Parts: sequence; C-alpha cells; structure tokens
Amino acid sequence: MMIIMHPGAHKEQIKNVIAEIEKHKLSSHLIEGIEQTIIGAVGDGHYVAKEIFEALPGVESVQRISQPYKLASRQFHEQDSIFEFNGFSVGGMEVPIIAGPCSVESRAQILEIAQAVKEAGANALRGGVFKPRTSPYAFQGLGEEGLEYMAEAREKTGLPIVVEVMAVSQLKMMEKYVDVFQLGARNMQNFNLLRAIGETRTPVLFKRGMSATIEEMLMASEYILSGGNPRVMLCERGIRTFETATRNTTDINAIPVLKKLTHLPVIIDPSHSTGDSAFVSSIAKAGVAAGADGIIVEVHQDPAHAISDGKQSLTPEAFAKMVKQVRAVAEAVDRRLVN
Ligand code: PEP
Ligand code: MN
Repeated sequence: MMIIMHPGAHKEQIKNVIAEIEKHKLSSHLIEGIEQTIIGAVGDGHYVAKEIFEALPGVESVQRISQPYKLASRQFHEQDSIFEFNGFSVGGMEVPIIAGPCSVESRAQILEIAQAVKEAGANALRGGVFKPRTSPYAFQGLGEEGLEYMAEAREKTGLPIVVEVMAVSQLKMMEKYVDVFQLGARNMQNFNLLRAIGETRTPVLFKRGMSATIEEMLMASEYILSGGNPRVMLCERGIRTFETATRNTTDINAIPVLKKLTHLPVIIDPSHSTGDSAFVSSIAKAGVAAGADGIIVEVHQDPAHAISDGKQSLTPEAFAKMVKQVRAVAEAVDRRLVN
C-alpha cells in the first residue's frame, strides 16, 4: 500500500501514519519528495482496509500496489533509481562498464588486467574469489587472499571492485573489502543469503537465476530491499532454454520489461549470456540498445589459459574495440559512456 501525504502534511501526521502501519505489523518505507511525502506500507497488508489510512489526518490518498513485489516496483517508486559510485553513477544517463576476469588467479594477473581494463575504458573491476563451480574438484577461488589483491588493484587504478559473495558466513569479512557484492545466478533464491545481504548497506549486483522468471527475480530482490538495502542492480545474464548453440540464451526482452516494471538499474552480462567471446560484443551492444544501464563483462589477458570462463573472456584489445562500438550505440539511444 502507498500512502500519499498532502503537500503540507506535518511531521506529526507522518509519524502517526507510520505508527498505524506498524500497528498492523507492516514495515514503513518513506520517500520524501520535494513537495510530497509518500509512505510505503509493506508486508502482508491484504486484510488491512485502506480506509483506515485514508481517514488519518494529512493523508491525501491511498493506493494498493497490485504487483506482488512492492519496493522494487515502479508503482512504489516511479522515478529511475540512480546510485552514485566513486567516479560514476548507475541508472541515469551514464552507462558504466564493469570488466575483469571471471576469477582472481594471482596478484600479478589481477593487477595487470585491472590496469588494462581501466585503460580500455572500464569504470569498475570485477573478479571472483569464491567461485560457484559445477565441479567440486575445479578451482574454487583464492578467498580472502584474492580480496587483498582486488583491494590493491582498486588502490592502484581507482576502480571500485565487484566481487561475488556465495555464503552468509563470507559477508562480514567481505564487507571490509568490496564496493559491490555480486549475488550469483545460482544463489538468486538463496533466501537466507538474500536476507543477510539486505542487512548490509553494500550495493548489490543481483544476477538473474538461470531458470528464474522476471517475476521471481523481482520477488527475490525484494528480500534485499525489504531489509533496508536499497542499492540493488538487476543483471540479465542469460537463461536456460532448449538452444544449445550458446551457453545460455540472452533474454534481451528482459531489459525493457524490467525497465517498465522496476525503478532499479538493469545491467547486461554478455559473457555468461553467450559463453563465447565471439558473441560478447554483439550482445553488449544489443543490451545497451535495449536500454541496459550498464555492462559487466569478462576480460582476461590470456583467455586460453584462464582458470575459469576463458572461452567467453575478451582480450584487453577486443574489450577496447567493444567499448568503442558500445559508445556509438549508447549515443544512438541518448545515453553516454562514463568517459
Ligand atoms: C560470474 O560472474 O563469474 C558468474 C559465476 O556469474 P553467474 O552467477 O551469472 O553464472
Ligand atoms: Mn564467470
């Protein structure tokens, strides 16, 4: 339910509405606009009559949010959410690019690739240190040692770092290092992890589960938002279909559909979407043309010898070429790259 206050509503009247919301065991979320305050009442408010709120002093109108997700919905928050980072923003005019290897493999590897992607136009650095591998015998990541290398790469390049968190037990330690948590496709419905991330105030790159519908994705993001962490960026990373020619099938439709349903930024991952470096640039361009607010892409200095996802990793040269072409596409749809 959204309770829209009169433009001149007093603080006491707002407090009174919040108290009424809490009386019904719902949580309140305040949006203070320049002229008006809107209060979201979130939870199972099915049985609470909207007339109760309409009768309170200072209330202009009350609307029910018809979608099952609330805080993620555009009904709750009409304007695009824009999140500020060191050097760029996501969700506004700019289209930032997050680039780096699938996994942090060594100090020398990540420092070299960080510098290379920065020079080619990246705005943030990605690199996994806890890897969700299909086989338990495959490389599982460097853990905290890898985070130290990522932090050093940030210090040397100024690029904020994006790192996947796989378990609740990793959160506290990782929070000290990372600028953005990546929530991986395989964990999209790990509700304990989602709730725990919702309790942090670290921004989240939230990947779509490989078999998740758009509604399931938005419902899952609600676990983080309802914990009070508002900075969630949704990421289309390809879904499983009957098609086997590529690793996954990019759901390009998801980008404009998500932009219609939610105010949260939408990021395209052309690497996991396709699984093949030959198609990455095409899908990065398609994503931006379809309205994506950013790109996350895998880049490796020696893809043939990468420990994970080498087949889909671009060389720094191919990445630089992709950036050049993405720039032209961004401009064609009235957006721009950060630099
Ligand atoms: C990754 O980014 O390396 C990764 C494992 O992604 P996803 O969760 O989308 O498979
Ligand atoms: Mn990967």
